[in-house]
Amino acid sequence: MKVQSIRGTHDILPGSVELWQEIEQQARERFRLYGYAEIRTPVLEETELFARSVGADTDIVRKEMYTIEDSKGKSITLRPEGTAPVVRSYIENGLSNEVPVAKLYYIGPMFRHERPQKGRYRQFHQIGAEVLGSDNPAIEAEVIEMLFDLLQALGLQDFNLLINSVGCPVCRPAYINRLREELRLHAGELCEECLRRTETNPLRVLDCKVPSCQPVIERLPVIRDWLCEECREHFSLFQKYLASREIAAEVCPRLVRGLDYYVRTTFEIVSRSLGPTQNALVGGGRYDGLSELLGGPPAKGFGFAMGMERLVLLLSGRSELGAPFKVPAPEIFLVHLDQAAFEYALGLASRLRKEGVFAYVDFAGKSVKSQMRQANRQNAKFTCVIGESELRSGSFTLKRMADGVQTAVTENQIADYLRREL
Ligand code: AMP
Repeated sequence: MKVQSIRGTHDILPGSVELWQEIEQQARERFRLYGYAEIRTPVLEETELFARSVGADTDIVRKEMYTIEDSKGKSITLRPEGTAPVVRSYIENGLSNEVPVAKLYYIGPMFRHERPQKGRYRQFHQIGAEVLGSDNPAIEAEVIEMLFDLLQALGLQDFNLLINSVGCPVCRPAYINRLREELRLHAGELCEECLRRTETNPLRVLDCKVPSCQPVIERLPVIRDWLCEECREHFSLFQKYLASREIAAEVCPRLVRGLDYYVRTTFEIVSRSLGPTQNALVGGGRYDGLSELLGGPPAKGFGFAMGMERLVLLLSGRSELGAPFKVPAPEIFLVHLDQAAFEYALGLASRLRKEGVFAYVDFAGKSVKSQMRQANRQNAKFTCVIGESELRSGSFTLKRMADGVQTAVTENQIADYLRREL
């Protein structure tokens, strides 16, 4: 039986990987300009990290984590998100002593046992950034400006910014009580999940996508009317800083996001070109208190995560991930006629590579004709046939594949010639 990849995971083949690299490179360049340093945390963490931070009653922790017990009986989990690991590392490595405001970014795979569909996978990749040490709403606007810069640099235009404030431990409890009372009145109209959430975490009801719950949700009180003075002030300053950067935002009272650690500002960037349920490209918000929750020093935090698969779907204009397999195009394909020429070609290729030329030698032991066919298939820029006479004369004929023009040069001239012509 053929062994296959696990449902909800995917290979990124040559031919597709270049787009991933381009996204990463553009992201790294934006991060550099805005002063973010890369951090790489382990893929495995203690389960407790996510239970405590993401929240025991969230979908992620309740049903989506890949959790195993190690040989000592310790529960460990494949990270479902990047913020909690970064904050854990920030605390563990005492980064708060190094800089007053730490700006960190990460790129890597995350794991959630969700129902796979277009734009939703079990292993997916996020580019994320975290700012630790500031509760200034100006940093929130700066982060969003950086994201807009990145999306525009990638050539995307079709996106909207949604913002909300989810209050803080001062004002949110009263709102949650009010929400619960209202939901209990409509218990008969709610789905089973929302009935449960009404008691455990009523805020989550606002996230529900079940059609029959929508009429109830639309009439629920909105948190904006319950914010305390400080939260109200914070949110209005955030909007002012966005406006001064000419960034348009839509206030979306239902935007509570699926992770418990958020306070005050939450946001999403959605794309009009993605399907209605998987339209979020970026999600983020403020998480003051998370550091303390994980046993660290007080540290205000703000960050986001962007889904790379969804970006790739948008940028490639495809409905499925992946493109046909494609091998890299050699700058020069050295075609060999016999064993002596093969051995010479190996040496020549290694000399050319030291001069920065992508030289390719066929290892399949094929005829000249099939090597030429392979050079064509690989889209080689030049070919050079090497046989007894080339070895004897030291003169090599380089053929430009685009137009068939041939030029004879000595071995020492090959690299210079290619550099000029490529
Ligand atoms: P979250 O960590 O849930 O706030 O998600 C942040 C972003 O990651 C989303 O806006 C998506 O772009 C992406 N994302 C989250 N879950 C998945 C998934 N299962 N498959 C693909 N992308 C995802």
